[in-house]
Amino acid sequence: MSGTAVVVGGGVGGLVAARRLALQGSRVVLLERSDVLGGRVARGTVAGVVADTGAESFAVRGGAVRALVEELGLGDAVVDPRGGAWVALEDRTVPLPSGGVLGIPGSPLAEDVRRVIDGRGAVRAYADRLVPVLKVGRYERLGPLVRGRMGPRVLERLVAPVVESVYGVDAETVPVDAIAPRLNAAITLAGSLSAAVLQLRSTAPAGSAVQGLAGGVARLVDALVADLGRFGVEVRLGAEAIGIHPQPSGPGFTVVTPREDVEADVVVLAADGAAGLDLLRDAAPDVARLPRPRPAVSRSVLLAVDDPRLDAMPRGSGVLRARGRTDVTATALTHVTAKWPWAADQLPAGRHLIRLAYRGAEEPAETRVAADAAALLGLVPTTIVDRLDTVWVDTAPPLAAETRAAHEALAVAPLPAGLAVTGSWRTGTGLASVVAGADAAARAVG
Ligand SMILES: Cc1cc2nc3c(=O)[nH]c(=O)nc-3n(C[C@H](O)[C@H](O)[C@H](O)COP(=O)(O)OP(=O)(O)OC[C@H]3O[C@@H](n4cnc5c(N)ncnc54)[C@H](O)[C@@H]3O)c2cc1C
Repeated sequence: MSGTAVVVGGGVGGLVAARRLALQGSRVVLLERSDVLGGRVARGTVAGVVADTGAESFAVRGGAVRALVEELGLGDAVVDPRGGAWVALEDRTVPLPSGGVLGIPGSPLAEDVRRVIDGRGAVRAYADRLVPVLKVGRYERLGPLVRGRMGPRVLERLVAPVVESVYGVDAETVPVDAIAPRLNAAITLAGSLSAAVLQLRSTAPAGSAVQGLAGGVARLVDALVADLGRFGVEVRLGAEAIGIHPQPSGPGFTVVTPREDVEADVVVLAADGAAGLDLLRDAAPDVARLPRPRPAVSRSVLLAVDDPRLDAMPRGSGVLRARGRTDVTATALTHVTAKWPWAADQLPAGRHLIRLAYRGAEEPAETRVAADAAALLGLVPTTIVDRLDTVWVDTAPPLAAETRAAHEALAVAPLPAGLAVTGSWRTGTGLASVVAGADAAARAVG
């Protein structure tokens, strides 16, 4: 296509789509509502050091991000994370077992699993191997599936911490097919939940499940923006799309902003979910009429901390909090300088970066933050020398019931030719899904 393409939204999804459309020969205009590009891939400065405040790694799964990183000339910057994750239980803090899917163990009797759920819990979990699986129908919700087959300790101590901190959803009610699309089929084939996990893991590539970039994942945004400049993409900041009107007769669209109208042959809508649904009111009125998902609001607190005992990485790359751990408010802690040596190299000896994740926008007091960091790291006291907070609003979490209803409606209500919808609310949380989805969306219309 060699006409004009408009991309709405300048997060990674929009940047990838704009780059692809330009490579395919379109004249591209990218509209971004805010004054910065990158969306939920962003950086900030704490104690004089620049670090990621949003996404800090990418899943290796599917290979889309790695391929993009190579294309952008960042291949040499790819790094593996150091250390494994831990889980903070009500009675102890222990390493999370390796080799599971969403925290579900493939080998329930393994030593590292027993450390978390104890011998009795492990024997209960092993019963999964002995009980026949559904041959007709599918397991609907994750909580009943895991509890029913492996017992409550696997659900509460392994699965809920992973699912709730990584995906921000309730492990009890999230549909199995939404969070692990291949799991039901694998259970039927393998004959138990744990055998299904082993089967899914055996098809995963060897090595780290996630990787990062030396200097931070936000370098991806810099490199994408540089490419857009090279390819002549016109980037308009502070340009909020408020309408996408299909031409009444014939192909093409008018994209409306408060300042001007932009005529487009094709449009890729890469805004976050609520904005995306609003903008579909002309092109897909039935979809736009659906109830809006409740926004998921979270806060990252990035701390610079002085404590030489942290050099020993007492909690590996970080800690996920289990529900039963009631003395801690943060849902997860990342020991940034343990996980990413490039970050440690920027700091004087004994100084570390720690990132805490909180649900909701409310600002936790300094004493709360210090207590959470100390409890999760098992070190008291720890001196906080600087702090940087960022509030994130995910207006349509991909696993929310309303978002899934919008997906189903989009599947049966074809969009006008030349309009594609992408971004994390449409293709799934995380850069692996966003990059692959945005590239596919641009190819479909370009
Ligand atoms: C704290 C945090 C940590 C994370 N960690 C990881 C991680 O380690 N690994 C990982 O893979 N993923 C991680 N993620 C998820 C990942 O960051 C997102 O899935 C991804 O960045 C979403 O990209 P996107 O382009 O779909 O949306 P966004 O980044 O939200 O971009 C959407 C853009 O559209 C713009 N926009 C909205 N409405 C309009 C409009 N009407 N007109 C014009 N522009 C508009 C917005 O301003 C925004 O810039 C994390 C997210 C957060 C918040």
